[in-house]
Parts: sequence; C-alpha cells; structure tokens
Amino acid sequence: MLDSLSTSLKDAVKKLAGKAVVDRAAVEELIRDLQRALIQSDVNVKLVMQLSQSIKKRALEEELPKGMGVKDHVLRIVYQELVSLMGPETELELKPQKILMAGLQGSGKTTTTGKLCRYLQRKGMKVGAICCDNFRPGAFVQLQTLCKKINVPIYGDPNEKDALTIVRNGLSALRDVEVIIVDTAGRHALEDDLIDEIMQINDAVKPTHRWLVIDAALGQGARDQAKRFHEAIGIDGVIITKMDGTAKGGGALSAVAETGSGIVFIGSGETIDDLERFDPDGFISRLLG
Ligand code: GDP
Repeated sequence: MLDSLSTSLKDAVKKLAGKAVVDRAAVEELIRDLQRALIQSDVNVKLVMQLSQSIKKRALEEELPKGMGVKDHVLRIVYQELVSLMGPETELELKPQKILMAGLQGSGKTTTTGKLCRYLQRKGMKVGAICCDNFRPGAFVQLQTLCKKINVPIYGDPNEKDALTIVRNGLSALRDVEVIIVDTAGRHALEDDLIDEIMQINDAVKPTHRWLVIDAALGQGARDQAKRFHEAIGIDGVIITKMDGTAKGGGALSAVAETGSGIVFIGSGETIDDLERFDPDGFISRLLG
C-alpha cells in the first residue's frame, strides 16, 4: 500500500510547486489523484469522499499562512486530514492491565498475542496470556509454544469448551502477573455466537484495552467487522498485521476510522519480534515524502 500511495501523493503534490495562489483546478486535480490512490489502496469510498471534501474545502478557503508556499500549505492540510483519518496516537501505559484481543480467524490474533507478550516483557512487565480460543484446534498449542520460548506463563484448557470458564480460571491462575493478554476465538465470518461470546468474556475480564486485530490484506470487509466488534465491546485500538506483505492496507484504515480509535501496533513479519508501535506522524511523513 505504502509505496504506491506514497508515489501518487508525492506526484500529486508536486504539481502545486511554484504556484503563487491556490487555484481550484490544481486542487481538484490533486484531490482526484488522492482519491484514486486511496481507493486503489482499498480505503472505503465514503471515507475517501469525506476526506477529499475536507481537504478541498480547507485548501480553497483557508488563508495561505504568511511566508508559506501553496505547495506546503496544501501539503500541511493533506497531512492533518490524514492524521485525523488514522486516529490519534494511542497510549500504552506500562502498568498492570488486561488486554482483550478480538478479530476473525486468520487475522493473526494468536501470533500477535505472543508478540505483545514479548514487547511488554522487554519493557520490564510481568506478562501472562490466556488462550480462550477453544474453537480453532491448535490455537492453545500455538500460543503455548510462543510463550514457552520467551518464558511467559500461559493458561488454557483445550478440553474445556466454555470460553468463559477458561477465562475465569485463567484470571485466577495468573493473579501474580501484571499484564494479562486474553486471546479470544475467531471464526470465518461474523457469527452471532462469536459476538455473544466475546461480550461475555469482556464482562468477565473488564479489560483495560480491547484491541481489534485486522489483516492488512482484508479489503472492504474490514469496516463491517470493525463495526460489529466495536458495537459489541468498544474497540479502543487496532493492530494491523501482515504489513510486511503486498497488501494495500486501506481496508484496515477504514476499520480504524470505523472504531474512532487509533492504530496501536503494526505486525511486520512472522517472528515474535516483528511488532512495531505505530506512530501516525512518522507514518504520514513517510507517505508524503
Ligand atoms: P489467528 O487465527 O487470528 O489466531 O491467526 P494466527 O496468529 O494463527 O496467524 C495466521 C497466519 O498469519 C500465521 O501463519 C501467522 O504466522 C501469520 N501472521 C500473523 N501476523 C503476521 C505478520 O505480521 N506478518 C506476516 N507475514 N505473517 C503474519
């Protein structure tokens, strides 16, 4: 996503170089290039329209700040609007807390749970994980293998079918741990029982954070998913996985906008260390060059 979007944006903004006044035709051309680039990256059309309208309005109506060229003025507006699309910088305090992981099967939830354990452990926290994904065979062993490698305690019970029982037992087994990360079950589609289950788990855990794990390759469907999960448990952060792949990532951006939260982390590979904190400023600066 980043490379093609970045090239298109840079080319579009370049056309404004050397202009003395903001002329409508140039701004409209920029908006068209921007729209094309975002839609090709799978960003939801409605969102693209909202974004381009606010950029256009501001570029044409706001007075050119003294000493600033047209190109920099418009670039600043594009930058600010993209920042607001991607959500605020998310906070992650190093304190005792519980984090609930939500997402569909295959999104990378279990892998990311392991990565998060590693990340927080490196920050000096005493971390533990609960696997209440009793739907996908092998989920428990997968997380157990990841956690064993980094010496992080994990609670799970592959023979117990009731996720709520697992969670309650897990909370009690890990009471000496500072940060508990709860990996939940995902399904192939957004089924009602998945949502019911995660709502019950949310009530039992009362987590500090409820993070949605989204695969960067997920296109337009990402928005609906995010909406369902957000309505059910109030998502307060998004983790976009597989950003190392060729995915366009725009669907995930639409998911972020749907929850009104920010991107907390980016998954950038298959190993336990491939997790990066997301910095919206740096991200957009790279995008605009
Ligand atoms: P879950 O069903 O949501 O728990 O998904 P998993 O954690 O099992 O991940 C599904 C697949 O995605 C696995 O093959 C992971 O190795 C892979 N995966 C997860 N995160 C990333 C990532 O950031 N980059 C890459 N390349 N692969 C990832």
